[in-house]
Amino acid sequence: MKKFIVLGIIFFMNTFFINCQTFNTNQNNNEKIEFKVKKSEKEWKEQLTPQEFDILRNKGTERPYTGAYNMHFEKGIYECKGCGQALFKSDNKFVSDCGWPSYESAIPGAIVYKEDRSLGMVRTEIICSNCGGHQGHVFDDGPTETGKRYCVNSASINFINNKK
Ligand SMILES: [Zn+2]
Repeated sequence: MKKFIVLGIIFFMNTFFINCQTFNTNQNNNEKIEFKVKKSEKEWKEQLTPQEFDILRNKGTERPYTGAYNMHFEKGIYECKGCGQALFKSDNKFVSDCGWPSYESAIPGAIVYKEDRSLGMVRTEIICSNCGGHQGHVFDDGPTETGKRYCVNSASINFINNKK
């Protein structure tokens, strides 16, 4: 009888640990996303300026009100500076007093969302779905109908004029 109890406990413990592992895997799901564009750190450093590298590859943030596109409202598309994938449309950009380019929505499929618990906050990080480049965060305090505010670094995007 004792044997069965011991076996039962072992079985229970195993189930418990397996569940924990499953839970952890889910938490880190986005870490395992395979991005189409894969480059070594050296290759990224050759392609990007130190600031762009810090933001796109190390999740850095440019200082507010310093970016080229904070108050930029020409008609066109904003592409990922890492890989050139179209991420945001000028039609979805709005004036925000947060100091960074802000959009009410992203081009469908262009962004991957990931929970970010750094700096003692829970935020949703936004990442280019093609190269994994960090773009910024999305918040639920947008002033437009979508209620979203995609807060993006100017240094991680390139503006492409519609006329070109
Ligand atoms: Zn990209």
